[in-house]
Amino acid sequence: MCDAPATSVEHVPPRCLFPEQKDLPQGVDLRKQLITVPSCDLHNGSKSDDDEYLLYALSMNIPNNQIAANHFGTKILRAIKQNPAVIARFTAEQIPVVVEDTDSGQQHETVAIKVDHQRLKRALEVIGRGLYFHHFHARWNGTVAAYPHFVLAMTEPNAEKLNEPNEKMAAIAKAYFNDLPCFCENPEVFCYQVANCAAESAVIILLRFYQGSHATLIFKADGSIVGAGETALLIERGSA
Ligand SMILES: [Zn+2]
Repeated sequence: MCDAPATSVEHVPPRCLFPEQKDLPQGVDLRKQLITVPSCDLHNGSKSDDDEYLLYALSMNIPNNQIAANHFGTKILRAIKQNPAVIARFTAEQIPVVVEDTDSGQQHETVAIKVDHQRLKRALEVIGRGLYFHHFHARWNGTVAAYPHFVLAMTEPNAEKLNEPNEKMAAIAKAYFNDLPCFCENPEVFCYQVANCAAESAVIILLRFYQGSHATLIFKADGSIVGAGETALLIERGSA
């Protein structure tokens, strides 16, 4: 993230995403060999609010697995009881929605929460830079573009049109990364996959949280930021 000397280590992704042993059945360990990278004090300390925001945004996503539901029902509920203002802020803008389980056809009444897209993308970008360092043993000095696939445009008049590039990228990434190795010790919580598109001088990393919340990160060597549509093409053309 910066040139300051490392004085500590930082977990990538944040450790708060990983349930503690006391909230899990006996013998289940979801904090096996967590990834850490060297960090300066400033960057380690300054992002704890973003980490908390990321935790809320990820853990409430419906397609997640049971581990996320359990994490919400234990650790996150305790945090909410301790400091209700945080969750009140997070859920301030919400609209009632009905979601359908495409497997069972069952419908559920719930709410959609308006997220701070920039903040979410910033938190994912920091994870991306950390993973890049961990994976390639080198600092990434270029730009990182983050595309969380679990965020939808809903209230905008052209919402459907706005969602098209992201949905296309999510579908292509899912198919493309399907056969690539997963780097993870605790895949129920988090794992990542890497595509090195040499011809495009780009690296693409797919993040998978709780097996249901995916995000694509694009590292372009020439520093350009590419849109979702172009990124979909990049992935299609990419060679692992
Ligand atoms: Zn720093």
